[in-house]
Amino acid sequence: MRSLWLQKDADTYSETPLGLRVYTSRLLGASSELVLHGGGNTSVKDEFQDLLGDTHQALFVKGSGWDLATIEEAGFSPVKHEVLLAMAQLAELSDKDMVSAQRAALLEPSAPNPSVEAILHAIIPYKFVDHTHADAVVTLCNSVEGEQLIQAIYPDLLVIPYVMPGFELAKEVRDRTAGIDWTQYGGMILMNHGVFTFADDARESYEAMIEIVTRAEKQIPKRKTTIELVGRISSDDITKIRQLVSQAAGKSQIVKYSRGEVDYEFSKHRELSRISQQGPLTPDHVIRTKITPVLIDVNECEASIEQFVVGYKEYFELHKNASHIMLDAAPKWAVIPNNGILLFGSNARDIGIVGDIVSHTTEAILNAETLGGWVALSPKHIFDVEYWELEQAKLGQTKGAKEFEGRVVLVTGASRGIGRACAHEFATRGAQVVSLDVVEPDQDSNARAIHHITCDITQSGSIAEALDETINEYGGLDVFVNNAGIFPASIAIERMEQKVWDRTLEVNLTAAMSLMKQVIPILRRGWHPSIVVIGSKNVPAPGPGAAAYSVAKAGLNQLGRIAALELAKDGVRVNMIHPNGIFDTELWTEELLKERAEAYELSVDEYRRRNLLSKEVRSHDVALMACTMAGETFENTTGSQVAVDGGTVGVI
Ligand code: ZN
Repeated sequence: MRSLWLQKDADTYSETPLGLRVYTSRLLGASSELVLHGGGNTSVKDEFQDLLGDTHQALFVKGSGWDLATIEEAGFSPVKHEVLLAMAQLAELSDKDMVSAQRAALLEPSAPNPSVEAILHAIIPYKFVDHTHADAVVTLCNSVEGEQLIQAIYPDLLVIPYVMPGFELAKEVRDRTAGIDWTQYGGMILMNHGVFTFADDARESYEAMIEIVTRAEKQIPKRKTTIELVGRISSDDITKIRQLVSQAAGKSQIVKYSRGEVDYEFSKHRELSRISQQGPLTPDHVIRTKITPVLIDVNECEASIEQFVVGYKEYFELHKNASHIMLDAAPKWAVIPNNGILLFGSNARDIGIVGDIVSHTTEAILNAETLGGWVALSPKHIFDVEYWELEQAKLGQTKGAKEFEGRVVLVTGASRGIGRACAHEFATRGAQVVSLDVVEPDQDSNARAIHHITCDITQSGSIAEALDETINEYGGLDVFVNNAGIFPASIAIERMEQKVWDRTLEVNLTAAMSLMKQVIPILRRGWHPSIVVIGSKNVPAPGPGAAAYSVAKAGLNQLGRIAALELAKDGVRVNMIHPNGIFDTELWTEELLKERAEAYELSVDEYRRRNLLSKEVRSHDVALMACTMAGETFENTTGSQVAVDGGTVGVI
């Protein structure tokens, strides 16, 4: 690999050692083959001046929760160096005591918790210390001849056998380096874990890392592959797998179908059942991926997942101690022999992390196979990291899950008005939203949580394509918000144009039937599934001049009621909302509002609040009701109709 150091970029960082520390940390973070998602850590030793003007020798070490790729100066916690050195001399130190002693030694009370490797950084007698989990080096470690290979390539480096990270590792390095002359070593390899480099100069330490990793890369033969990117499981299989994995996890999971080159190469490997079932690339990945993926035989999905769950429980029972509480036993990724990989997670961000780790893991395993075979660390070592409270703390941010976390919500007509408000509200509450609309959404759409698919819902082929895309990306559906509709200009029945009538019924009613028809089999496998139909005040109280619209909405309402009757036995709830007087949509221009207000001899403001409660009702209020209907409050309610209109005499 090549050094990314650019002097002109380095010059843009402050010239203090901490400034350069930020720069080279980001360079390391920019290479996914060196560190992934919070992996790796760096430090710099420098003076710290406190408020009283006293100067302390400090170790500025990466704080937990920061990522090297995006770290800033504030991401480095200044810890009293002498305290860390004294801690390094202890015979024993519990994780709890280590964390609290490190916090107590912070020179900046608001700084994040120092990295769990802070003590190790402290005892390395150089200004700059860089640590990565470089794929190439770990691949060599995890190959059959790992130890010999590492010794042969790195005669000039310290090689430390695998030890649990944290204080145990610091102690091991302390003992092995007591009295040595550090200048004879150009770096340090931690078997099955990663690489440390060090120097008094930022660039030198960074480039030593690049040089060490390059040596490992040269040992890995190029794989010659002619893999055809073909073979896929059906949408029906994916929704079934999603349901089973969600049940195993005890919560709704999003499923992404990954079918890249390496996914196929891996899933088509002739010894898949051996190479896939040994363990992760580095132990810290286990909290994201579990020790192995589930191998799924699509003809026996239930049995495959059940076997994984049973195996996980056995692994837990074998290695646990009295203080451990079992995590959920569900897999985090699956390999479908010959057909690619499935990734599981609670949201798109989690899936992205699992996906990155899996792609590096499968690549490394395939590479290790060219070196004679993949040999991961023992399950006991993996277990110790999986159930290490300091690793679990990395997942802390995802605790206290949002209401719709892991759920997939389909909203039609979601680019504007009520549909847009629904899409945003569900996304805010943690859902993955799929937005269907004939027009593009506004720019401010939440890109990650709202996935827009341009789709004409009057074409059943377009619906089928959109649903296929939804299943490949997210694994299924839990909530369907039928919102898309059109509101033609007011016209009396005797002047009704056939094409206006037909088009209104086509979009507002027939398309909804077509959508339901295709969505229902997917929803049946959803998590607490439900349908929310956006109706209209015109259902209970039609208006003159709105025959096509009112008839279509009344039909839609009837469709929803029948769906409620038909789907109750499957646990799919169907509820209807009847909004009225929602003026913050595109239909209502300022001129139109003015014109309507004048017709009633009201001011625009009075007209906006022309309801029993004299309150302005907005799209967002309808969205709140849609979320409520899809949520726990309506868990025991189906076939209901609720007005969101501030109260209307004719409706009440
Ligand atoms: Zn590490």
